[in-house]
Amino acid sequence: MLYKKIIATVAILAISACGGIKLSAITLIPNSKMSAMGIQSFEEMKTTLPINTNVKTNRYVSCVANAITDQVPKADFDGQWEVVVFESDDINAFALPGGKIGVYTGILKVAENQGQLAAIIGHEVAHVIEKHANQRMSLGLVASAALALGEGGLKGASEENRGLIMAGLGMGVNFGVTLPFSRSHETQSDVKGHILMAKAGFNPNDAVSLWQNMAAASNGQPPEFMSSHPSHKTRIDGLTQHTSLVMHHYQAVTNKPKCNAFLY
Ligand SMILES: [Zn+2]
Repeated sequence: MLYKKIIATVAILAISACGGIKLSAITLIPNSKMSAMGIQSFEEMKTTLPINTNVKTNRYVSCVANAITDQVPKADFDGQWEVVVFESDDINAFALPGGKIGVYTGILKVAENQGQLAAIIGHEVAHVIEKHANQRMSLGLVASAALALGEGGLKGASEENRGLIMAGLGMGVNFGVTLPFSRSHETQSDVKGHILMAKAGFNPNDAVSLWQNMAAASNGQPPEFMSSHPSHKTRIDGLTQHTSLVMHHYQAVTNKPKCNAFLY
């Protein structure tokens, strides 16, 4: 019931945001609070889902994630990134304020190589750099829930507020609530993520094949990832066109990542 109410509220705000004022760019929640919520949610996630300990898989995912996060300007994030591989067949991945990246083993079956995984991680990291979670949370009921958090953070929050905050951070799938990013946030992350992966030395063409794989995987039962990341032909077309704009970044990297080597 509560979830329906949340979705309805967000939908109304999204419609009203289409008017002249760019409401979607407003951030009400202090960055320090966003980071604290991201870190706490991540810790909770680690106690909720089993963590994959396969050495090869972890080295592979870390290799890709590190190459991407190395490209993040210090002005955007000046902390330590952490990457965890969660053992789950769900096709899912996320990045949280505070520098936390989660990759599910299920998504490694859709992302067939290092470039495709880089496209996912680049896109998720771009959501963090662009402060999309803060913008989304600032628009709805989530803002009051987040701003009401006391010293104890999430631990002191009511069940309702915890669910709202998790959804605002983009982890709602695991708690039964999803708040998809807006189309403009998705496009912004596609573009920024594409630049990050190309600068890191991953082939930008792999972003296109990744989303083609995602679209194929969503025939039948839609993957978890799709509930917060709708796939459209326009996204694949946009990335295809954008490839020529970022190719020079990729070509300029002389020492390209060799993460695939960890898989064999
Ligand atoms: Zn996204």
